[in-house]
Amino acid sequence: MADYVISDASQDEKDLISKDGLSATQLLSSGNGLTYNDFIILPGYIDFTANVVDLSSPLTKKIILKVPLVSSPMDTVTESEMAIAMALSGGIGIIHNNCTAEYQANEVQKVKKYEHGFIRDPVVLSPNHTVLDVRNVKTKHGFCGIPITENGKLGGRLVGIVTSRDIDFLEDTSSQQNLKLENVMTRLNNLITGASGVTLKEANSILEKSKKGKLPIVNNKGELVALMARTDLKKNRSYPNASKDENKQLLVGAAIGTREEDKNRLQLLAASKVDVIVLDSSQGNSQYQINMIKYIKSKYPEMQVIAGNIVTRMQARNLIRAGADGLRVGMGSGSICITQEVTAVGRAQATAVYSVSDYARNFGVPVIADGGIQTIGHIIKALSLGASTVMMGSLLAGTSEAPGEYFFSDGVRLKKYRGMGSLDAMNQKDASGSAMDRYFHNEMDKLKVAQGVSGSIVDKGTVLKFLPYLQCGIRHGCHDIGAKSVSTLHHMIHSEEVKFERRTQSAQLEGNVHSLFSYEKRLY
Ligand code: GDP
Ligand code: GDP
Ligand code: GDP
Ligand code: 5GP
Repeated sequence: MADYVISDASQDEKDLISKDGLSATQLLSSGNGLTYNDFIILPGYIDFTANVVDLSSPLTKKIILKVPLVSSPMDTVTESEMAIAMALSGGIGIIHNNCTAEYQANEVQKVKKYEHGFIRDPVVLSPNHTVLDVRNVKTKHGFCGIPITENGKLGGRLVGIVTSRDIDFLEDTSSQQNLKLENVMTRLNNLITGASGVTLKEANSILEKSKKGKLPIVNNKGELVALMARTDLKKNRSYPNASKDENKQLLVGAAIGTREEDKNRLQLLAASKVDVIVLDSSQGNSQYQINMIKYIKSKYPEMQVIAGNIVTRMQARNLIRAGADGLRVGMGSGSICITQEVTAVGRAQATAVYSVSDYARNFGVPVIADGGIQTIGHIIKALSLGASTVMMGSLLAGTSEAPGEYFFSDGVRLKKYRGMGSLDAMNQKDASGSAMDRYFHNEMDKLKVAQGVSGSIVDKGTVLKFLPYLQCGIRHGCHDIGAKSVSTLHHMIHSEEVKFERRTQSAQLEGNVHSLFSYEKRLY
């Protein structure tokens, strides 16, 4: 970059050049709250191609994502299907908590069980189980490659394996369904196994060469200690940027509240091996949240905790002091949100993101820009104001992986999208019939005041195609700014190399399509 960036210019040149644009601090120090649409970023110097831009960025102090995108904990956005797609694409999904603790923990488990290095808790049966038992496993879990041990348990002596090929052509008659597995399994002497202590790489190589679908791992007494699936090698090849833990299982987060009963929810989520907990409050600067952060940190010291939501430096100070590993920023900026109208409290999102990020970076705490993301440009702006990742609700709602059924209105294919503070979401009942909500807290309150609305959103197809489009767009944004990575971009904000300008209403109109009679807007 020598000689082509501002730091290499002479003092005289700097004086002339610096008249262009504002630094982030200058842009946002007017006292007026700005939104993403209120400003534009000036172009920088390019000496690389867009496809090399490194998008990796921290979600929390310990978790780094390859793609800075997070799906929101909302019941019309993130359950296991969305979380799997987000993690496969290099981001992460946060499972919502507008459901029972058991349901939420099960959704977390589905994500953690989707892909493995070693499957350390495989479903195991005994030679006395029947074909019907295998079919039941297939119905419940979706797989049927089952190691058979003497006692039917992990840790028992391995005697064989049953896979779909062993039972595919058996008929539905009771004599065939009740066949004992000892009659259909492939026996140990024909099995290729791995020795416990084998590295993942070695085990993968044995699995590849064996041309089999499964590799049981046994100790020197012949007892089963783990299983490996060939499918997982394929999944790894198809999604090389997936967000994974040390055992190659997908990363996943889950939201909880700050009440006493949330400690039970937390326990179930921790047992399901959730990677990060998001404390879900619209105003996170409370003694309840501070106590909950401290509780989680003392009971589960390894658990990463994202606190929020917040929009000011003072709020950030309290949550960082309590031990937060990440901060979620946004109050009233969400597309389905009426908090600012109802409570008169909140902050314009660009100002909130810059202000909190500028404070939190002093403590190494990453910020998630949550809410109000309508376009790729907004994602780039959030990152350019110091956010490390971006959380999306409406942008991901309406995709195939979002919970809920499609329906048609005037010929348009739609899905429901609703605020978690909408009456619709607050009236959601659990199995016992009691309402579960985030915004209506006090049993004494008889009147519910909505802080969100419920609506619909058009079909966007699959996230697995939409996220690559978003990533590609973010790379082009960083390219135009002259930042080869998100971390370089952050460095350039603080060295004031990234320059901004406010946009008037007419500048915003000019920056959009104009002067045409009609046009087609296809995004990718
Ligand atoms: P990665 O391939 O990007 O995960 O990079 P690593 O260096 O962490 O991979 C180490 C080894 O783990 C390589 O041999 C990978 O093929 C293998 N690996 C990565 N993901 C999986 C997975 O989900 N299942 C299995 N069985 N192996 C994996
Ligand atoms: P199968 O041949 O029907 O067993 O299915 P595949 O091998 O195609 O896929 C199994 C997938 O389920 C892999 O991604 C595994 O990591 C995952 N999985 C999770 N838990 C288990 C388990 O207990 N047993 C098996 N066989 N697979 C599991
Ligand atoms: P929010 O509306 O998104 O901020 O959701 P929260 O459930 O975090 O907070 C709702 C209200 O309940 C706020 O007034 C909190 O201060 C309060 N609150 C949160 N947790 C507790 C708790 O454990 N006990 C009590 N009594 N109040 C709580
Ligand atoms: P979106 O991406 O749709 O603009 O915003 C999603 C974000 O809005 C969520 O991540 C969450 O922080 C916030 N949110 C979700 N539901 C509600 C609600 O009912 N009221 C308010 N005030 N905010 C909401």
